[in-house]
Amino acid sequence: MRRKIAAGNWKMNGTLTQLEHLNVLAKRHPTPKVDIVVCPPNTLIAPATAQTGTTAIAIGAQDCHTATTGAHTGDTSAQMLSEAGASHVLVGHSERRCDHDETDRVVCGKAQAAIAQGLIAIICLGETLQQREAGSTLEVIADQLAASIPDIATGETAVIAYEPVWAIGTGLVATAAQIGEVHGFIRAQLIKRFGEDAGQRFRLLYGGSVKAGNADEIFAVADVDGALVGGASLNCDDFSPIITALENSSP
Ligand code: PEP
Repeated sequence: MRRKIAAGNWKMNGTLTQLEHLNVLAKRHPTPKVDIVVCPPNTLIAPATAQTGTTAIAIGAQDCHTATTGAHTGDTSAQMLSEAGASHVLVGHSERRCDHDETDRVVCGKAQAAIAQGLIAIICLGETLQQREAGSTLEVIADQLAASIPDIATGETAVIAYEPVWAIGTGLVATAAQIGEVHGFIRAQLIKRFGEDAGQRFRLLYGGSVKAGNADEIFAVADVDGALVGGASLNCDDFSPIITALENSSP
């Protein structure tokens, strides 16, 4: 059985005082039935890790470099993130792909670096509105999957997040049918590449305007093993009910 994940992406938001939300979350979910991961900006990884300590909340990063060290001004390696206390790292988020021209090849290199460092790579993919309207969603997903996931990935070291670009931060949410179609397709592709058992072990997250009000419906979709949550993860009062909905969703 795949253990579900509620992952929060704080993006470029958050200050030291906002780490108080993690204390509240930890108190509300002392022994959660799902994994809880919060990815604050890099500056908050060490204090967040110190604060969450032995609670059930894991801390992740939002990006890493493909290299371990070197002349890459402003970048952070997986090794550095691990040393700061991160256990997970997002790679290939659409904002990185768009703002920093990250290709599937780069995303694959980042996932590989993360996994080699012992971090769990949350590999993000998703189609733009234009691609969906052109009817090429599954083709785009297939290409991204094939090129962004390194061969060393396993269900224990990598998580796949399907995030339709048009649903991120827009309030637009993919329908249950749209999510089900893409998640079923991703599962089939993973099985084709990694084999039945290994393919079944990968956890698939949906991301794109997940809120308390739509979480139950999304978590009822087959092959949805959790969510990657942006805006609603910033505040414990918004994120906590999403975690509860995931805990209450059927296995
Ligand atoms: C995200 O940043 O990955 C995301 C899904 O954002 P939001 O939940 O705000 O749409």
